[in-house]
Amino acid sequence: MQEQKKQILVTQASLPPFEEYEALIREIWESRWLTNMGKFHEELKEALRSCLGVPGIELFVNGHMALEMALQAFELKGEVITTPFTFASTTHAIVRNGLKPVFCDIREDDATLDADKLEALITKDTAAIVPVHVYGNICDDGKISRIAKEHGLKVIYDAAHAFGETIKQQAPDGTEQEKGVGTLGDASMFSFHATKVFNTIEGGAVSWNAGKNEFLSDRLYKLKNFGIMGKESVEFVGGNGKMNEFCAAMGLCNLKHLQSWIRARKAVAERYRNNLSGVPGIRFLRMREDVKSNYAYMPVLIEGGIKKRDAVYGYLSEQGIFPRKYFYPCANAYDCYKDRYDANETPVAKTVSECVLTLPVYPELPLPEVDRICSLLEECVL
Ligand SMILES: *Cc1c(COP(=O)(O)O)cnc(C)c1O
Repeated sequence: MQEQKKQILVTQASLPPFEEYEALIREIWESRWLTNMGKFHEELKEALRSCLGVPGIELFVNGHMALEMALQAFELKGEVITTPFTFASTTHAIVRNGLKPVFCDIREDDATLDADKLEALITKDTAAIVPVHVYGNICDDGKISRIAKEHGLKVIYDAAHAFGETIKQQAPDGTEQEKGVGTLGDASMFSFHATKVFNTIEGGAVSWNAGKNEFLSDRLYKLKNFGIMGKESVEFVGGNGKMNEFCAAMGLCNLKHLQSWIRARKAVAERYRNNLSGVPGIRFLRMREDVKSNYAYMPVLIEGGIKKRDAVYGYLSEQGIFPRKYFYPCANAYDCYKDRYDANETPVAKTVSECVLTLPVYPELPLPEVDRICSLLEECVL
């Protein structure tokens, strides 16, 4: 019998040793407290506050509900400027809040929102900006926040890809400081989905710089718990966005391994970069020197447009290697938005989406497999 080659998918969920999770779920069994801000929920919240370096944080059932409820918390009306180069969640969260997305093009070098194109899109109806730290590349917050301030707009980051990243900033006294990316803007959303660098099976959070938006803690809690604030007191028309104890326990287990996982991801990402740099037909996105990366994704741009990219994707798939066309298509090309938007209005995003592939990255991916993937890529890219 011929040996079946093992398939390599774009990612693989990171899990703790089973016994570590078993010990915590045994406690849940014994207490019979399964959800509603139990012991593990509260422990995870505090652990993440310090791990992310964010003064304000609230946990959610998933990243998408975190973003929907963050937008709702600010009681926005009208238009929200965002990027079409993102996961469906970002645009849907805006639309599902009764707001109108206005698509701003991205920068070619790092695929984040192009702040130089922001002001032309601001109207009297603009309420907020929702940029995305794509692949963990941190947006130009300096420029975005300056424009937002001038026009009285909120900035809510989709930081789903940026878990645990820090950015160097100058303190007022001139010294350099490392800041958690979840302190940027008015609020940030993180996703703890199974496929992300840090997972709670499903889960998410909203973080913010506490002093600036003190009301968020109260508002987000009400939004995620039906507005119930006491045994006989319902103060607000909220929904249900709570994280349960099984998910919180998974998060507590996974946090203990996060640093070693990120180190392993780094080795994989560096191997790709070393092997593929200088290979004609393949380009990388820029990574900022002042950002400590979590190595969540390994995007490469295949020169030669969508036909070439799809051919490379097809060739790798035949060999049992499954990268992802992430993000393709752009949000303004989705079927559900097709009568309202035109992807040609954001040409850079369209071009990047038609030549991008994200290559397999996860902590357990053996480096010889990375070498094999690179050789196959080199074979078919020209
Ligand atoms: C994963 C992701 C989300 C949604 O998070 P979920 O936890 O899956 O709901 C939103 N935006 C981006 C950019 C993502 O990658």
